[in-house]
Amino acid sequence: MDMALTPEDREIRERARAFTQAHLFPHELEMDRTGTLRPEVVKSIEQAVRAARLNAVNHAMDVSGQGMSMVQQCLVNEECGKATGELWAYVNQPPLPLRDATADQIERFLKPACNLDLHIAYSITEANAGSDTSAVTTTAVKDGGDWMLNGEKWFVSGINYCTVVMVHAHVDGDPDKPAVFMVDRDTPGLTVGHSPRFMMGGVDEHPEMTLKDVRVGNDRLLGKVGDGLDITKEWFVEARLAIAARCCGMGVRAAEEATSFVVNRKQFGQPLADFQGVEFMLAVMATRIMAAKSLLYRIAAEIDAGLERKLIHAKASAAKLYCSEEMGRVVDTALQLHGGRGLIRDYAVERLYRDIRVERIWEGTSEIQKLIIAGQIKKRGLGVYSELS
Ligand SMILES: Cc1cc2nc3c(=O)[nH]c(=O)nc-3n(C[C@H](O)[C@H](O)[C@H](O)COP(=O)(O)OP(=O)(O)OC[C@H]3O[C@@H](n4cnc5c(N)ncnc54)[C@H](O)[C@@H]3O)c2cc1C
Repeated sequence: MDMALTPEDREIRERARAFTQAHLFPHELEMDRTGTLRPEVVKSIEQAVRAARLNAVNHAMDVSGQGMSMVQQCLVNEECGKATGELWAYVNQPPLPLRDATADQIERFLKPACNLDLHIAYSITEANAGSDTSAVTTTAVKDGGDWMLNGEKWFVSGINYCTVVMVHAHVDGDPDKPAVFMVDRDTPGLTVGHSPRFMMGGVDEHPEMTLKDVRVGNDRLLGKVGDGLDITKEWFVEARLAIAARCCGMGVRAAEEATSFVVNRKQFGQPLADFQGVEFMLAVMATRIMAAKSLLYRIAAEIDAGLERKLIHAKASAAKLYCSEEMGRVVDTALQLHGGRGLIRDYAVERLYRDIRVERIWEGTSEIQKLIIAGQIKKRGLGVYSELS
């Protein structure tokens, strides 16, 4: 089994690492202190994303993406994920299902999004439809040749700077007719409401959004009526792999910061790193990182080798579950190793500690990933997870 990176993979990793260090890390404290970045800074980051050829790494070159393999996408997400304050969100990845859009939709939405000229949010969740997406009550009703959308969405990440929102609705209120619509942010009837403050500050706000008689043309329907759940699931799968990769980046950065700290900090007349209790913590962090990355990159390599779509869904859940849970433990240990300094917001571990918590919740909680995995075991057998393919 060959898990070695190619020279091209290594070049991409180094490019993403250099970009993150030069263009994301320097803005972390401004983001943490003010909760936002100045427009000129955002512009300079977006220019740097383009210059580093890191925009739309998840899309093919003929739609203005970078045409990267899944292993390469994970390398980019791991490196950019090291930045706190969700600064990785500037390294845009337009939702994957758009690759199956109509030619017109690809020209209007996907290509500009790949070029960072258009930003897209994705809204599924509602007050009473969280883990259970079938409980969505946002409706789409045909009105002449158009669609009228009505409903209320929650946690619409990035609507503060997006230009288009993908809305998951039920046609005629029928859960068997899910559909996804591309809605311009400034369409009459679409209003952004309460924007709660979250434990992690970052690029995205996650407000509520109301749709009241929002009229969109039939050209705004993605795929067909009834395709909505498959479209949303495809987006979940790609988001889960990206989360797993970012979590690995967070774990690596936290462990590096902690290692450097305990090598340099002396107590009881010697570096902390020389106490066996501390050595054990370093060893456990390193082993957890190695296990998480081994899982993630094995799945990524399987996807690049042509893994069946249903199995990608099954394995992405395992990657998200394991990487978010285990890297959460690594970040916790790294903070502990910093002592009181670990609670000071100027230290990266403090911000990583706040940032990583949401990774066990969004795009399906850990419990939902476990339900998916258990369902796959019952349907296909344990071999999906236990056998090497
Ligand atoms: C910062 C942030 C940004 C987000 N951005 C977006 C976005 O851009 N678009 C979007 O559509 N959504 C977004 N979400 C919503 C997110 O996907 C949901 O919060 C998540 O899916 C969980 O839903 P919920 O919060 O309603 O929790 P619930 O579904 O109410 O779950 C509460 C608890 O019950 C557990 N639980 C639920 N069902 C089961 C079960 N069957 N068995 C065992 N345990 C169960 C859950 O694991 C959880 O621990 C965002 C959320 C956050 C926090």
